[in-house]
Amino acid sequence: MEKRENRVSVFWFRRDLRLFDNHGLFQALNGNSKVLPIFIFDKNILETLTDKKDKRVSFIHHNLLRIENELNKLGSSLWVIHDTPLAAFQLIFSTFDVSDVYTNHDYEPYAIARDKEISDFLSAKNISFHTSKDQVIFEKDEVMKNDGKPYTIFTPYSKVWKQKLMESKITFYESENHLTNLLAVQKFRTPLLEEMGFELLPYHMPSTTVDEEIISHYDQTRNFPAIRGTSQLSVHLRFGTVSIRKLVAKANELNEQWLNELIWREFFMMILYQFPRVIKESFKKKYENILWRNNENEFDLWCKGQTGYPIVDAGMREMNETGLMHNRVRMIVASFLTKHLLIDWRWGEAYFAEKLLDYELSSNNGNWQWSAGCGCDAAPYFRIFNPEEQTKKFDPELKYIRKWIKDYRSEYLTPIVEHSFARKRALDIYKISIADGSN
Ligand code: FAD
Repeated sequence: MEKRENRVSVFWFRRDLRLFDNHGLFQALNGNSKVLPIFIFDKNILETLTDKKDKRVSFIHHNLLRIENELNKLGSSLWVIHDTPLAAFQLIFSTFDVSDVYTNHDYEPYAIARDKEISDFLSAKNISFHTSKDQVIFEKDEVMKNDGKPYTIFTPYSKVWKQKLMESKITFYESENHLTNLLAVQKFRTPLLEEMGFELLPYHMPSTTVDEEIISHYDQTRNFPAIRGTSQLSVHLRFGTVSIRKLVAKANELNEQWLNELIWREFFMMILYQFPRVIKESFKKKYENILWRNNENEFDLWCKGQTGYPIVDAGMREMNETGLMHNRVRMIVASFLTKHLLIDWRWGEAYFAEKLLDYELSSNNGNWQWSAGCGCDAAPYFRIFNPEEQTKKFDPELKYIRKWIKDYRSEYLTPIVEHSFARKRALDIYKISIADGSN
């Protein structure tokens, strides 16, 4: 179809930072006008980040430069604007005659409110707003119980999810084959991080390649933090530098356990969408009454990786240094904080949210609630990880511990609390606290 040169469509990148198999971009490129790609460094979000050495902002910036580079080769350019979304669109409309805006669905409460504001603004100007499903295989209300209610237990949800996948082939959206429909523009200047008040940080960027050898053995290797036994794709899934459709196709072929992990991701996204109250409160309401100790000094030692439990400390130090932590160790440190120290899971959740490169509101919240015993389909509260037993099982040669605690010796720091005492205390407090609650 002939493209009308005078009017343009906008494609708004958010958490889908790639040119290939990008559903919203595909729709835009197959629309009636040439496509102007944009990204907004949203001031509403950036202003909430108090630590200006934020690895995520650096990660995004790095990937925008990569996309800009690819677009330049095609004679196009990415317009990166540092402002609120509304102000950014006002700026775009003062420069271009826009007919349509395309983007991909976003499900977090802030994103839903933002998109509603933009959609209203666009409709007042008679501009169409098109959004597509891209970051998940099945979204918010596509896998539901027969009575139309959302699942709150993972196993039946995952069975129906897999059944639906079998019935409906995965569709790929080959945006990469339509890039000639991008608008030819002079290069925009991408703002420097320093201009936005952030520092550009060096960090280890995991590869976007799916290591088939690792995925094939995932079920046997995934619990051992000293070996490279997981995909390390979480940050790419977070920002859409990989396509979930391509990963699920691989998972289907290579390893069901790995497929299950990708389904957990969608399960928690669905839970957040259906029950946004989980952001503030326990999914199981009676757990709101837990008599947390909330000792600030102990919390500080946990954050710094100085609890005296080597596996806990190694995990916290790994995250403080790299922005990532192995899943097995995330479960151990979360259990330790909520059970051994009886500190409110929301404190740990907030600390992870600040530090994790792969921070995802739904997965972080869901897993913290799972660890504290108060979430949907959570581990029962009386299952309390013993850090020493976990070490014997999953880091028997102490390789992981030695990697992150450089000066580790057998006479390590004195534990801040003794395990059997802490275990009994947690059991007693949980039992008393939830005894009177309903639900
Ligand atoms: P793999 O083991 O290779 O799994 C593949 C993908 O499946 C992951 O990249 C991730 O997208 C998804 N996945 C795996 N495990 C889970 C899970 N338990 N829940 C939801 N999705 C999962 N993951 C995040 O992406 N962001 C978070 O903020 C986050 N916070 C967590 C907090 C706690 C307390 C715990 C216990 C887990 C948290 N996880 C979070 C889940 C998990 O630890 C990471 O997804 C995983 O460690 C990432 O490593 P990987 O990419 O090698 O994953």
